[in-house]
Amino acid sequence: MFIGHFAVGFAAKRVAPSVSLGTLFLACQFADLLWPVLVIAGIERVGVQPGLTVVTPLDFIYYPFSHSLVAAAAWALLFAAAYSRLRNAALRTGIVLALVVVSHWVLDALTHRPDMPLTVSAESARVGLGLWNSLPGTIAVELLLFGAGLWLYTRATRALDRIGRLALWSLVAFLLVIYAANLFGPPPPSGMAAAWSALAMWLLVAWGYWVDRHRAVVRV
Ligand SMILES: [Zn+2]
Repeated sequence: MFIGHFAVGFAAKRVAPSVSLGTLFLACQFADLLWPVLVIAGIERVGVQPGLTVVTPLDFIYYPFSHSLVAAAAWALLFAAAYSRLRNAALRTGIVLALVVVSHWVLDALTHRPDMPLTVSAESARVGLGLWNSLPGTIAVELLLFGAGLWLYTRATRALDRIGRLALWSLVAFLLVIYAANLFGPPPPSGMAAAWSALAMWLLVAWGYWVDRHRAVVRV
């Protein structure tokens, strides 16, 4: 899953309005922001096998620290605890952030083939409902999620200035272009190349902070 994760980040602004959109992106994409770092460090492994699923040729050989259920729960607790401590946030905000971090695993388990480990053990059972075996199904689910998340976000916030509109809509356009390139572009030359390009995802976190600074929360 790609833009569906950002949908959760957008939607969460409504239930945790004090949290910056950048932090919400960091939470919803935490696993995928950590993953390329671990692959490049040689701790996790990914290969490329065109045709493995209809949607992605990436073969997630070993990624328990970024993408197991146990790791997701642990990162969620750490993320919420660190944020609460740094920002003196309410318990409710911490809970929302933890749920946003865990949502990544749930949405990935919906799309991946059964390659998502439950625990960090190399012998762990692996799950995945395999939505990636259907291109129309994947696109429909992700676009619906993305549309709904974005709709909630635009209802929960309003632009303070021109940048507040421009930064948001250029981010949306950028996400859609990257998504289309992922779906219809050529497979990456190697797993390592995929990891290096995935590092660019950190830019989206910065973009989220930029958007947030130019938009105000609407009291609902
Ligand atoms: Zn992921």
